[in-house]
This record gives sequence, C-alpha cells and structure tokens, in this order.
Amino acid sequence: MTAKATINSQRLLERLDRFAEIGATAGGGVNRQALTMLDRQARLLLAKLAEARGFGVFQDPVANLFIRRSGRDEGAPPLLIGSHLDSQPSGGRFDGALGTLTAFEVLESLEDAGVQTERPVEVVAWMNEEGCRFAPGCMGSSAFAAGAIPLEWPGIIATDGARFEDELRETLAALPRAAMRNLGFPAHSYLEVHIEQGPSLEKENIPIGIVTGIQGTRWLEVTVSGQTAHAGTTALTYRRDPLHAMVSALERLYASIMPADDRARFTVGRIMVEPGAVNAIPQMARCTIDIRHPDTSEIDRLSVMAEQFFGEGAAAERCQVSFRQTFDMPPANFPPKVLEALDRAAAKAGLATKSMLSGAFHDALFVNRVAPSAMIFVPCRDGLSHNEAEYTSPDHVVSGARMLLLATAEILDSDI
Ligand SMILES: [Zn+2]
Repeated sequence: MTAKATINSQRLLERLDRFAEIGATAGGGVNRQALTMLDRQARLLLAKLAEARGFGVFQDPVANLFIRRSGRDEGAPPLLIGSHLDSQPSGGRFDGALGTLTAFEVLESLEDAGVQTERPVEVVAWMNEEGCRFAPGCMGSSAFAAGAIPLEWPGIIATDGARFEDELRETLAALPRAAMRNLGFPAHSYLEVHIEQGPSLEKENIPIGIVTGIQGTRWLEVTVSGQTAHAGTTALTYRRDPLHAMVSALERLYASIMPADDRARFTVGRIMVEPGAVNAIPQMARCTIDIRHPDTSEIDRLSVMAEQFFGEGAAAERCQVSFRQTFDMPPANFPPKVLEALDRAAAKAGLATKSMLSGAFHDALFVNRVAPSAMIFVPCRDGLSHNEAEYTSPDHVVSGARMLLLATAEILDSDI
C-alpha cells in the first residue's frame, strides 16, 4: 500500500539544518528549551510546513503538537509518529528534532506518493521532554498518557524564574490557528526515531537499533544535616560534618553499584552545601541520586542500599539524614507485535539491526502505557548527546527515516 512512498533525503537533511538554526549556539549545538520563545518558533515552523502540505494542525492543553494526515477512516485512532522539539541548554541538533522531522518526512513522503492510508497518521511533537527548564521531563507525553495535567504543574517555576502556567499559555497562544483537542485521545500505536545517545551502534557499525524497552529510573534527594562550626577552631571530635558523611556514603555507593552490575547506573549530578563558606563546616549537605536499572526490584534494592550507607555515614558524624523520592519511572517493555513490525521493516529496508534497551527515558515510555509503542535508534558519533557536538551522519539520518516509513507501512498493514 505504501510501497510507492520514498524518503526525500535532501529535504529531510535541509530541514534538520533549518530547525537547528532555531536556538543555534556558538558551539554548533542548540539551546531551545521547552516553552521558550525559541521552542515556540520551532513549533510555528512545523505548523507552517504542515499547513503548506494541507495537513491538519492541532494542539492539546499541555501544548503537545499534532500534525494530521487524514486516512480513509477518519474515525479510526491515528498511528502516532514523532518525538520532541525542545532541547537541553547546551544540547545537540538531533536529540528530539531527528524523531520529529523524520516523522514529518514520512508524512510528506506519503503525501508525495498520493498514498491513501486506512487510518490517519499523525506527527507528534511532545511538550518538554528534556525536563531541564521545567522538571519533570516528558511532561507532554506523561500528561497525554494520564489524560490529565497534574495539579502541581501550573505553579512550577523554571530555572530562569518563569512560571509554567504562564509559559504554557503563551506557547499555546503562539499557534492560534491550531485547533484545540482534548488531552489524551485513543491512539492506535506510536513509533519514535531517536539518536542512541550511547556508543554501541557506532562501535558495532550497526545502522539501526530496535529498542525493546526502557530501563527504569528513580531520583532521590538526600539531605544530611549536621552542625556548622568554625573551620579552624573545631577539632575532629567536635565536628558533625554532613559533607563528610555524604562523601563517605557516596564513596561506598560508587564502589558497590556499577562495578557489580553492568546494567546498573548510579549518578550524583548535583551537590549543594550550606552555608557554603570557605571557612565553615557545613550545616547541611544535599545531593541528588539517579539510579537506573531494567529491573524494578533491583532499583528498590539499590535505593535501600543508598539509605543504609547514608544512614551509617550520618551516624558516624552524628548527623541526621532524610530521603525524598523526586521521580520514579518503572521500566517499560515494548509489545512484541510492534517489535516484529520493526523487524519486518528492517528486513525490507535491508538494514542490519540490533535489539537493545534504552538507557535514557523517552516519551515512548509513557505513550506505551496507552498505545503499543516502540523506538528506532540510529548511531551518534562517540555516543555523545546532550552536547553541542552531538552528530549523526546523513546516511544514518536517512536510514532512520526509511525505517520509520517502512515501519509505518508495516503497522498500518498489520492488525496490531
Ligand atoms: Zn530526546
């Protein structure tokens, strides 16, 4: 049915360049954080390109953007394909944009070939996948899956002081011609192309990763409280140093978690000390912990281990410790039927594939809760992402788009 459609490589590559201009950084990357003026510009450009092709443009109350190509059966739930357009503050040109623009290229390819699909196909750009300006990440896709906006979101304050509620309203208003939809509607299935953000495809020289699932993630915030005192006059026996307690606990966690299990991830990305004076023992030390693993019970075990080690570190320094869980996402497994469709697509494209688990979380993790989903990974140079130097070669970009087009055809023709 969709056999006539082909990817227009030049159009796709030029479009990636065009979107990379929106928020371009001096280092060759992109700073287009969620719900900023630049994010609105990118959304507006996509909407204009869509209108030029006669596609429908819609948004929902959480500013997910949908580009619809009609099907024969307009009442049928659409096949969704897409990713996100927001970036990290010093992000790359491909993270998110690749998935959104390959999806739009698929829609244009179907249009160019005059293919009539049974059900509608829609490109989606999910709002705030990155979660760096407004936390948490994957706001748009998680709200879509839940069918509701969490009560606390409107009051969330951005890293730059902006209020979520205000920025969301402005972003929605920036697309006045986009028809408003209800949040969370039945979708047939969801496919997302993304750069791997890791080195394995490049190292093994494999053009396509078929992602079978996404590892779970848990974030903890640990606060150790001690007693601030003079750095010069306080002898060791009188010290209640929360940073010392923290460092000794972290040292044990670094030594115990990742060296013992190559599927486990343990990261401390933020440490804050108060009062933060050069000549005072801290009153308080706080750090974040990011734990990831494909197995929920292992995430639980590692969380307990962190509590134990911090408890022991704090006791040795006569400090108090408290834990707060700030984020918890269980692992996802994509349905076999969708993965089989991707295998068939790869065989037709003549592309070698590798089954893999995603180390990062993605919108597909949330969408999979309400519609059968899967992801297609393409290699990125040196595994670099969330970095201005992020790079995927034109060949790999085009392979990802061809895979998405063929997978779209497989899904439309199958009974998933
Ligand atoms: Zn991404």
